[in-house]
Amino acid sequence: MKQVYMDYNATTPVRPEVLEEMLPFFREHFGNPSSVHWAGRQVSGAVENAREQVARLINCSPAEIVFTSCGSEGDNMSLKGTVDALRDKGNHIVTTTVEHPAVLSTCQYLEKNGCEVTYLPVDEHGMIDSAQLEKAITEKTILISIMWGNNETGTLFPVEEIGAIAQKYKVRFHTDAVQAIGKIPVDVQKANVDLLVLSGHKVGGPKGVGAVYVRRGTRMTPLIHGGHQERNRRAGTHNVAAIAGLGKACELAGERIEGDYQRVRDLRDRLERGIMERIPEVKLNGHPEKRLPNTLNVSFAYIEGESLLLNFDMKGIAASSGSACTSGSLEPSHVMGAMGVEIALAHSSTRFSLGPDNTEEDVDYVLEVLPPIVERLREMSPLYKKKA
Ligand SMILES: *Cc1c(COP(=O)(O)O)cnc(C)c1O
Repeated sequence: MKQVYMDYNATTPVRPEVLEEMLPFFREHFGNPSSVHWAGRQVSGAVENAREQVARLINCSPAEIVFTSCGSEGDNMSLKGTVDALRDKGNHIVTTTVEHPAVLSTCQYLEKNGCEVTYLPVDEHGMIDSAQLEKAITEKTILISIMWGNNETGTLFPVEEIGAIAQKYKVRFHTDAVQAIGKIPVDVQKANVDLLVLSGHKVGGPKGVGAVYVRRGTRMTPLIHGGHQERNRRAGTHNVAAIAGLGKACELAGERIEGDYQRVRDLRDRLERGIMERIPEVKLNGHPEKRLPNTLNVSFAYIEGESLLLNFDMKGIAASSGSACTSGSLEPSHVMGAMGVEIALAHSSTRFSLGPDNTEEDVDYVLEVLPPIVERLREMSPLYKKKA
């Protein structure tokens, strides 16, 4: 059966060049990069090379990159490390209602431990209002944590505006850029970011590795205490193979943003147009323009997103409802809730997230199988019948 993968926001396939880059470190190059002897030297160069590759992609200095075990660790480290280091300055964090659980759950944990958190609301497009952000800042505010692009809707936040506000009030700015990296240009200087988180497996690299950009001079308590790795900012023997893979993935991503993601955007737009033309009562979730080039989130009125996905799966199509982390639960996504999407529509929200391996045939295949599935599921829906 034909298989179409349109769930790149959940994870991406490892690029062949990335795998090649990693293999020697599972075989002959086994050393510990902290060792001073030949075996250590064989691999420490690879870690430093990867650091340069990551730094180049986001326009910072290699010394400002800290390797982690995943994006979630990066978010935890940024928030908890800031709160602990800046205890004497304040205890207030400003974030949004639509962050990834790696940020939201960490904020909830911090609230139980003496922090105050303001969750900025979003409008129907999932967008925040910068004026509200500015109003939320108090004497006690130590951190603004706002993602670059939303994983469910693709909505892009005005990071340069946020960065300017952070600078004006001398508040630290953390951004979860896991979904933006490799899809659009990300420049930590332009956006005046202090802490930025990225993850390997969302950008054509391996799972279980990530990085945090920590602006020079940013005081942070480590999340993992131990050895002196990463200039005392993150202990633990380096996952050399994964780090080398992440570096290569970032190098490739930098080369691919322009050409590949223009093509991905065209495919996404073709899918969006096709769905709107072929199926009545479809609602776009997310900002119509300010959106990641690969993401399309739509609600098909009267239908359960889960049943749609199961029917997709039977046709070989991999998409997602809500976020990967919350699917399987019956709660509608917190992002849809925050956007004020009514419950029934929130339940039918479906995310297609495309990538460089997708083709026009993939899009046309989805456009061919989708309308009859939607029609059949609607016929079975009591809500739809009532309306007719
Ligand atoms: C996937 C994702 C994460 C978590 O990254 P992991 O490496 O899977 O821990 C964090 N934030 C966003 C926006 C994501 O999409």
